[in-house]
Amino acid sequence: MKLSALEKKYQKNKKPFRKFIKDLEDADVTDIVDIAKQAEKEVWQEVDCLKCANCCKKMTPTLEASDMERIARHLQLSVPAFKKKYLMYEKDEKDWRMQVQPCVFLDQATNKCNIYEVRPDDCRGFPHLVKEPINDYVHIHKQNIKYCPATLSLFRLSAANVFTMILSCIRRR
Ligand code: SF4
Ligand code: SF4
Repeated sequence: MKLSALEKKYQKNKKPFRKFIKDLEDADVTDIVDIAKQAEKEVWQEVDCLKCANCCKKMTPTLEASDMERIARHLQLSVPAFKKKYLMYEKDEKDWRMQVQPCVFLDQATNKCNIYEVRPDDCRGFPHLVKEPINDYVHIHKQNIKYCPATLSLFRLSAANVFTMILSCIRRR
């Protein structure tokens, strides 16, 4: 639709549209969480992580002490030996990360994780699509959206759902 046609439509529906935006501003933020949760279900119907693995190729998880103990035990290494071989300490962020990207534990032929059962909790929860309070995760989504198709899909579908909501609201008035 051309911008002029869009503007015409807006002018025609200006009053209800403005009222809707006002309602949206006054609305409880849980509405947004519900929309995102619905969109998340749709995301996993259209995104296949085994065809992507960008998070393992372009990003690094952060590892907590419990991750290091679990993975070191699995690899039959001591925690100091595991850290020396695979991890680096990021001084600015004060956290432990993988030394290399793509991650050394990624099987690049299959996109599968070679330590899947004991992988870091950060990998287990990624891409942290709908976590509450939702505002605390916006900066993470902003970082992830350029690599993670699931994150992009979440925002596209959420926007579409909000748009559908707007349309049905306009139609009811
Ligand atoms: S540990 Fe496994 S899931 Fe985590 S980044 Fe490495 S390959 Fe990916
Ligand atoms: S970047 Fe996102 S879509 Fe790709 S494998 Fe990781 S979580 Fe899945």
